[in-house]
Amino acid sequence: MLRAGMIRQSSAGIYSWLPLGFRVLKKIEQIVREEQDAAGCQELLMPTIQPAGLWRESGRYDDYGKEMLRITDRHDRDMLFGPTNEELITDIFRNSVKSYRDLPQLLYHIQWKFRDEVRPRFGIMRGREFLMKDSYSFDLDYEGARRSYNKMFVAYLRTFARMGLKAIPMAADTGPIGGDLSHEFIILAETGESEVFCHADYLGFDPSARGVDYDDDLQPVVDEWTRLYAATDEKHDADGFASRVPSDKALHTRGIEVGHIFYFGTKYSKAMGATVQHADGSEMPVEMGSYGIGVSRLVGAIIEASHDEAGIIWPESVAPFRVGLINLKVDDSATTEACEQLYSELSSSGVDVLYDDTHERAGVKFATSELIGTPWQLVVGPRGVASGVVEMRSRTGNVDEEIPIESVTSRFTG
Ligand code: ATP
Ligand code: MG
Repeated sequence: MLRAGMIRQSSAGIYSWLPLGFRVLKKIEQIVREEQDAAGCQELLMPTIQPAGLWRESGRYDDYGKEMLRITDRHDRDMLFGPTNEELITDIFRNSVKSYRDLPQLLYHIQWKFRDEVRPRFGIMRGREFLMKDSYSFDLDYEGARRSYNKMFVAYLRTFARMGLKAIPMAADTGPIGGDLSHEFIILAETGESEVFCHADYLGFDPSARGVDYDDDLQPVVDEWTRLYAATDEKHDADGFASRVPSDKALHTRGIEVGHIFYFGTKYSKAMGATVQHADGSEMPVEMGSYGIGVSRLVGAIIEASHDEAGIIWPESVAPFRVGLINLKVDDSATTEACEQLYSELSSSGVDVLYDDTHERAGVKFATSELIGTPWQLVVGPRGVASGVVEMRSRTGNVDEEIPIESVTSRFTG
C-alpha cells in the first residue's frame, strides 16, 4: 500500500489515505452500506468524541484501560475518542424508544474509531485510528434478537462475497453471555493474526449463490453455514475438531478477522436503564447485539487475499480504477490523440480510468500499472494506432488481446 501510494503513516498506527487508497476505502464502505441497507439496517452518524459519563454508567470507563484515548476539554470535562459505540447508541435508544411497538430497531454507522493498541502493526490492518462499520440491534426478546443476528450474519456473507473474499463465519468467544451467538468472519491468510481451525469444505461454499429475502426465516441459511466445524483459537476444541472433521479436510491455519457479530443481551440496557414497555405493560431492558466490520482493515485484507509478485490484483468491485490506460509514446501525436479520445469516451460512459500520460519508459508504466492493480490495462502504442487497435489485458493474465479502438468502450459498458 505504501509503494502503490495508497497511504502514508502520520504516526504509529495512524494513516492518511491518499487519493488512490481513499478511492478503495470509499468503494468498500459503499458495499458495506448497500448490504446493511438491504438488510433493513438504518444509517446514522454518531460523533468520534464521546462523554465519559456514559461509559461510567456502563462500567466500561475503568474496564477499558489503556486502549481508550482519554481527553479533557477546556471545562475539565472527561471525554474520550470512541473505541466503539454501545454506550452512545444505548443512550440514543433510551431517549427515543419506549414501547414494544417501535421494535425491532437496527441501526448502524460508519465512523472512525480510536484504540490505543499496544502493538499497532501490519499497516492499516491493526491501526490505532481505523474505520469501522458498527451496527446495533434492539429487540423485545431473545427470539427477536436472534432474528436480527441472523440478518447481520447473512448480510455479512453477502458483503464479503461482493469484495471477492471468502470469509468464513467462525464460532467466537461469547464471554459471560454464553450461547452460540458470536461469530468472527475470517479470511484465511498465512499472515493473519488469528489462529483458526475449520473444515476445508468452507472454501467451496458460495454465499452469492442465491438471493435473500430478509423477511424470511434466515435460520436455515445460518444453520448451513455453521454446520461444519469452524472456530477461532479461543473457542477451539481439539476433540470436537478431530471427531467432526476428517483429517484430509482439517484446516489449521491463520486468518484475518474482518467482521464480528455478537449478541450480548441486556448487558448495556440493564446498566443504562434502556427499557421498553411490553404489550402486557411490563417494562424490561431491551435485548441488544452489536455487529462490526473493519472497513479500513478490509483494504489490507483484500490485498492479502489477492496479489502476486508484481503487486495488487483488485477485484473489480473495489478497484480504485477499473481501467489503466497506458500511453506508450506520449510524444506521438496520433497515439496521444487516440488515448485522449478513449479516456474521454470511457469516462463519460462511467468507467473509472486512470490515464498514464507520463514520460516514463513502457516497462516502468507496466510495472506501475501492475503494482496499482487495475483489473484492466489498455495499452496504446503507435503501431496499434496505425492499424486501429489497442491491446487489452486483464491484471489476472487471463485476457490479452488486440481489439479495435472503436469497440473499446462497449467492452466495458456492454
Ligand atoms: P481484534 O481481535 O483484531 O483486535 P476486536 O475483537 O478488537 O478485533 P471488534 O471490537 O469486534 O474487534 O471490532 C470489529 C472489527 O473492527 C473487527 O472485526 C476488525 O475487523 C476491526 N478492527 C478491530 N480492531 C482494529 C484495529 N486496531 N485496526 C483495524 N481494524 C480493527
Ligand atoms: Mg481488539
